[in-house]
Amino acid sequence: MIDSMRKIKQLFSNTSVDVYFDSTFNHLSKLVDKKNAVIITDENIFSLHGSKFRNWNVITLKPGEAFKIQLTADAIIEQLIGFEADRSTTLIGVGGGVVTDLTGYVASIYMRGIRFGFVPTSLLAMVDASIGGKNGVDVGAYKNLVGSIRQPSFLLYDYSFLKTLPNIEWSNGFAEIIKHACILDHSSFKLLINNNLQSIKKDKKILTSIIEKNVVLKSSVVKKDEFEKGDRKLLNFGHTLGHALETQYELTHGQAVALGMVFAAGLSEQILGLKKSVEIIQVLSQYTLPTIASFDAERVFNILTMDKKRVSDKMNFVLLKKIGKGVVHPIKLDTLHKYVSAYSHLNKASK
Ligand code: ADP
Ligand code: ZN
Repeated sequence: MIDSMRKIKQLFSNTSVDVYFDSTFNHLSKLVDKKNAVIITDENIFSLHGSKFRNWNVITLKPGEAFKIQLTADAIIEQLIGFEADRSTTLIGVGGGVVTDLTGYVASIYMRGIRFGFVPTSLLAMVDASIGGKNGVDVGAYKNLVGSIRQPSFLLYDYSFLKTLPNIEWSNGFAEIIKHACILDHSSFKLLINNNLQSIKKDKKILTSIIEKNVVLKSSVVKKDEFEKGDRKLLNFGHTLGHALETQYELTHGQAVALGMVFAAGLSEQILGLKKSVEIIQVLSQYTLPTIASFDAERVFNILTMDKKRVSDKMNFVLLKKIGKGVVHPIKLDTLHKYVSAYSHLNKASK
């Protein structure tokens, strides 16, 4: 319902983003001229929500992270030329994080940059990927190696897309929601622990308030540090070990980050005296995310130390002072090695 739609403006260093919460897809035609816009989406979303795209120019991509590559960006550019897209054209990414990352990337290079906006359709894209302006493609094993930072002109939230979201994608989104709560907001953490995935999925009011809160939380971090010199690093909570696990094992991003958060919470307990780290394990399981997994500590440690957050013999790790307060903390590599081995043994023992 357009009536209940709420519009907020988020200001970044050199641009502002109009955010339309609780809107409808139809409202897009008020923001852009259909004839002068091209929608980029993927086959899953197109087949489930095809009727919404009537009379729009649409480019449909194959779904999945495997297609977040330069070859896909080139194919999009070819199709834009086919649509005679020019400097006045707006690109609209309608999809999950893969679609929004590719849309932002192509929009920032096509004709040296054209206007773009997003309609995020996955929970993860709604609370994380579509916010902050990072876009780009993967190159081989290197995730997001090529890309830029450029904010969209608008974000439009049509919650009806979530009706078709598969379960595994719900928990992927909740991994990032739990991350935001751990590093930034104790009251969100309490709300999450007092609910679970099933109860929240059924309660549109709580769900939309969580989504909207997370947009504000993430934007507030990005606004303070758009180009990742300081605070924005906090958003890597759970992601350092998470990324290493994700490249080595068959895990979704959310599952890998959940395991990374359990590890970082354990480290925080030992190094910073974090209390109640067990609540983090509890909340992750309430959102059907894994908290234990056995893995090859040596292999994972080697990948982990190749991470760009390494500074000589130390590595900057995001830890928690308390639930709701993340900090960046340097950890010596040999200490980290010990903890990674201990964590993988612990997991083997509890299997
Ligand atoms: P992300 O997890 O970063 O959002 P993707 O763009 O790969 O990454 O989206 C995850 C998967 O969910 C893809 O297969 C995509 O097609 C699918 N998807 C996204 N939104 C919806 C939706 N509203 N309904 C059904 N499937 C969706
Ligand atoms: Zn993530």
